[in-house]
Amino acid sequence: MKDPRTVLSKGNGKIEWRYPGSMSSQVIAIYNADKKGFYASCNDSLSYAKNFSLNLDTLNTLVYEMINYPSSSNPKSDTYSPKYKGIIGSFEGDWIDVASIYSKFALSQKWAKESRFKNGLTPSWLENTALWVWNRGKSANVLEPAIELKQALGLPVNVLWHWWHNCSYDDNFPEYLPPREGKQSFINAIRSAQNAGVNSIVYMNAIQWGDATEGWKSGKVKPYTVKDINGNERSHVFNVFSGKALINMCVGTKFWRDHYSSLCDSVVNIYETNGVYMDQTCLSVMCYDESHGHDIGGGNYWVENSGKLINQIRSKDFGVKKPIFTGEGSSENWLPHLDAFLTLQASKERYEGIGNTETIPFFQAVFHQYGITFGSYSSLVTPPYDELWPKKYAPGNTEQPLDEMFNKQFLMEQAKSFVWGMQPTIANYHSFLASERREEIDYLTEIVKTRYNALDYLLYGEFCRNPNLKIPRENIKISKLSIYAGKTGETVTTFEKNVPSLYVGTWKAKNGNIAIALASISDEVISVNFTIDPENYNISSEGKINLIKSSGKKYLEKYLNNIHIEMKLNPKEISIIEIVPQ
Ligand SMILES: [Zn+2]
Repeated sequence: MKDPRTVLSKGNGKIEWRYPGSMSSQVIAIYNADKKGFYASCNDSLSYAKNFSLNLDTLNTLVYEMINYPSSSNPKSDTYSPKYKGIIGSFEGDWIDVASIYSKFALSQKWAKESRFKNGLTPSWLENTALWVWNRGKSANVLEPAIELKQALGLPVNVLWHWWHNCSYDDNFPEYLPPREGKQSFINAIRSAQNAGVNSIVYMNAIQWGDATEGWKSGKVKPYTVKDINGNERSHVFNVFSGKALINMCVGTKFWRDHYSSLCDSVVNIYETNGVYMDQTCLSVMCYDESHGHDIGGGNYWVENSGKLINQIRSKDFGVKKPIFTGEGSSENWLPHLDAFLTLQASKERYEGIGNTETIPFFQAVFHQYGITFGSYSSLVTPPYDELWPKKYAPGNTEQPLDEMFNKQFLMEQAKSFVWGMQPTIANYHSFLASERREEIDYLTEIVKTRYNALDYLLYGEFCRNPNLKIPRENIKISKLSIYAGKTGETVTTFEKNVPSLYVGTWKAKNGNIAIALASISDEVISVNFTIDPENYNISSEGKINLIKSSGKKYLEKYLNNIHIEMKLNPKEISIIEIVPQ
């Protein structure tokens, strides 16, 4: 956030973030990179509920707070001592220095030691994914375009599948089964996609129950919902078309863990999918229902019980199949539990427009080699509309090419995901885009193929600071679009944003080699000129330099002492400079 004081003075004077939840890690920092910075964190390895906040006092002074929520399970006790310490301090530098300070604590904790990715527990088909297609609806709208894209790419494409389920989206969860196109049609489609080398994970929300469902109306579900401090349910209407509410279920109850894990068992074992995208997993909620048996209110039972739920899901017999279970958001707390993390923030403009915050790859900077991140709303078409929603609100132009003025936004999102070490994703892909948006699909193809020649860095590598180089900027058009905007007759809002024309990410492989990924979104040739002191990357002062492209690797030159790179990047060129110390 640029200039937090101004942002706070224009708002209500306070910003507060939940951990675990909107904060993936327990650290915030305020700094001026040319002066000093304020670092605030804590050393809680057990995932206790807490909020971090910044506010302005009456003298316009920035005030930092860490808000702790002791459990009220034992009200007779008149003392409270947290199981962790608050940490504050000063530092020099920027957010990358913050990531490096925080890593010293974070990477020696249980979540890093037990990370699924680090311990080789993530299935190879997930690690080998070159591209995700995130489509919605029946199999013809989802699996067929993905199979065609896989054939065109010649690399593994897998599918994140929304709106496959029986109920309409954001309504009658968890009435997911049987799939809306019918059991046999769904299974046949899944099988033929798998035969073509395309695996699918399906959407199932991990905490919500709809109040219009038969299950809810029977009254049998109510005892297992989250209760707030006044004993009320946490209910929210996401679906503006139906107006039906979703209510938070408590992961601390055996009822919900049994119900959700049995759904996962069915979609993998009966419906033959390759796993589940567990929406809303990486967040925590405080529950005050005394009958649930967990601590009341604050405490650390949420992550613990969510882990228990995922362990229960994994305890089912899946035979030779290696299903994956992924979640929404990135979070240190779920590194031992989830196989991958959906990080939509790479495409933040598409759902938030131009705000006062900018996404940074902080999670990757600390945890890249401990957790796979994927996913974004990056798309070239107008939003889809669930066929089960009211017909009267359906826009006439669903999944049609967006105005060409938004093409650069797509390139920007793909370039960011590439240099940030995420698995690339395209949302709402259709084969007509290969010709109607040829340049953009070619760009994505180039990114996917180049990345695939550099997985030691962009999948398995460790984040490093970029060398100092001049980055040109340009203004691009931004589209904000929502699947729910259709009700007001408007599906796309336009903004303009000044963005870098060149995206850069530097990564260190396990063998100590360094790679600098470059992705231009410019229409002009960009001069790239920088010098690296090998000492800054802790590598030998002698070695060789290669260039990695979509077509493969080519030797450039030797280096001795400083590494000088001087090259011209063609418009929209994707390249990786590889440094191999001797
Ligand atoms: Zn509860």
